[in-house]
Amino acid sequence: MNKRLLFLLIFLVLSFFYVFSCTTIAVSKGFSKTGDVLLGKNRDLSPDSAQILIFKPEKKYKKGENVKLQFIEIPQVSLTYSFYGFKSLDDEHKNREEWRWGNGMGVNEFGVAVADNDAASWWKYEGDESKKLHDNDVVRLILERCKTAYEGVLLIDKLLKDYFIEIPEMYTIADKNEVWIVETCYKFWVAIRVKTFEVRANRFEIKYPDLPDNSGRFNLKLEKLIKFLKEKKRYVEEGGKFSFRKSMCDYFSKENIHYNDIRYNFALSTLKKVKKISVKDIKEVLRSHFENYVYTLPDGKKILPFNPLSPPHCQIPGAVIEENPTRTICYSKTVGSMIVEIDGRNVEKSVMWCLFSKPCLNFYFPIFPILNSVELPESLKIADSKFSSGSFWWICERFVRLLDNNYKKNLLLRSKFIRGRNKIEKIFEKRVSNALKSRNFRRRASETFLRCFKDVINFVKKFTSKIKGDKRDISPVCTKKSFETCDR
Ligand SMILES: [Zn+2]
Repeated sequence: MNKRLLFLLIFLVLSFFYVFSCTTIAVSKGFSKTGDVLLGKNRDLSPDSAQILIFKPEKKYKKGENVKLQFIEIPQVSLTYSFYGFKSLDDEHKNREEWRWGNGMGVNEFGVAVADNDAASWWKYEGDESKKLHDNDVVRLILERCKTAYEGVLLIDKLLKDYFIEIPEMYTIADKNEVWIVETCYKFWVAIRVKTFEVRANRFEIKYPDLPDNSGRFNLKLEKLIKFLKEKKRYVEEGGKFSFRKSMCDYFSKENIHYNDIRYNFALSTLKKVKKISVKDIKEVLRSHFENYVYTLPDGKKILPFNPLSPPHCQIPGAVIEENPTRTICYSKTVGSMIVEIDGRNVEKSVMWCLFSKPCLNFYFPIFPILNSVELPESLKIADSKFSSGSFWWICERFVRLLDNNYKKNLLLRSKFIRGRNKIEKIFEKRVSNALKSRNFRRRASETFLRCFKDVINFVKKFTSKIKGDKRDISPVCTKKSFETCDR
C-alpha cells in the first residue's frame, strides 16, 4: 500500500477511536523541591478549542435555586467559592460544540486545584440522559463547592449517587496538604491518596483503592463494584488483591500501549530520576515530544518515538507501533497547560502557572489565584473557534501553527525562540519569588503578573513577525491539512 495512504488510514482510525486526551502530574509535598503540593496538566481537546482564563467570584444563592450545567440542571448550593479556571470558548459562543460550562482545570480561593483526565473502559453505560454530567462540570463543581481535596472526593461520591459522568474520567484534586485521585467509570468510582507522585495519561492506574475513611460505607461501595465486575467476568487481581485498573480497562491493549503507556512511562521515569520534583521538571515533561527517549515495548523491542524530520505536533510520521502511531505529551491537540504550586505554609502565596496553546512553544506565566488582586486582561477572556487578533490564545496558537506549517524554513528561529523563552521564564520565577518574599506581596504579585504577561505577548509577537514562509494559512498541521504537510 502507498505509504501516504497507509498514514491517512491510520490517522482516520485514530481520529475516530482516540478522542481521549490530557496528561496530568501530581506531586505530594514530601516529594517536591519546595515542600509545596504540585499539580500540572496539559489540556488536550479538538485543535480549535480556544481557551480563556475565567475568574468567578464568590456568589450567594437563594434556597431552591438550580444551576444549569452543560446538559442538565441540578440544585445549587447556598454559596459558591471563587476560582480561576481554564475554559473552552467564551460565553458568546455557547452554541459551538467546543464550548464548555465547566472547566478542564483550575484553582479556588482555598487553594484547591483540580484537573481532569479522560479514560476508557470496556464497559459502556447507557444511563438516563436527564442524569448525565459532563466531565468538566465536575471540575467546576469541586472548585465552587470544596474547601479541601478530601471534600472533592466526597462531592464526587455524592454526585454519582444521583447522576453519572458521560465518559470514564479521572480527577486529580490537590490542596495545601494532600492530593487525591478519583477514577470514575460512569456511576462507579475508586480513589487513592497520592503518597509520592502520580501521572495520568488517559488510562486507569489505581491498582488498590484507598478508602476515604473507615466508616464502612465506602467498603460497601467497593464490594458492590467487585460484585458487578465478577458478574461481568471482568474481575482481575494483581498480587492476590483486587486491581481496579486491570478489571475496569484493557490495561495492556494495543491502543493503551501506543497511546497512553508510552506517555505514562516517560513521565514516571523522567520524574523518578529527580530527587525532589520542581515546577521546572514538570514543565519539561509537559513540553515533551519524547525527544531522546527510547521506549521499550512489552515484547522487549525498542523504539524512538520522536522523528526530528517532521514538525513535533504532527504525530503521524513518528514511531509506529503495530501500525499505530504514538502520541506525544505536547501534541497537535494540546490547547493549554497549568502547573499549580500550593504553598502549605501560607496558601495565599500559591502560584498558578498558566500557558495557552502548546507548551513547547509558549510561556508559563504566573497568576496568584488566592490573592485575586488583578483584573484579568481582556485578551485572556476572549476566544472564538476562529482566529481573533484580540484573543491571547489565538496569538499564541497562530505562532505555533505558522512555525509548524513552515517547519523546515524556521528550524533556527524555533531554537532561538526556545532559548529566549527559557531565559525569560527563569526571570519570571525570580520575579515571583521576590514578590512573594516582599512585605507588600499582594501589590507586588499583581504587578508581577501584569509585567510577565506583557513580556509574553511582546516576545511571541516579535517572533511571529520573524517567521519565514506562508503566513496566511493557520490551519493546524496534521489535523486539517493533507499528509503531504506532515511529510515535509
Ligand atoms: Zn509541542
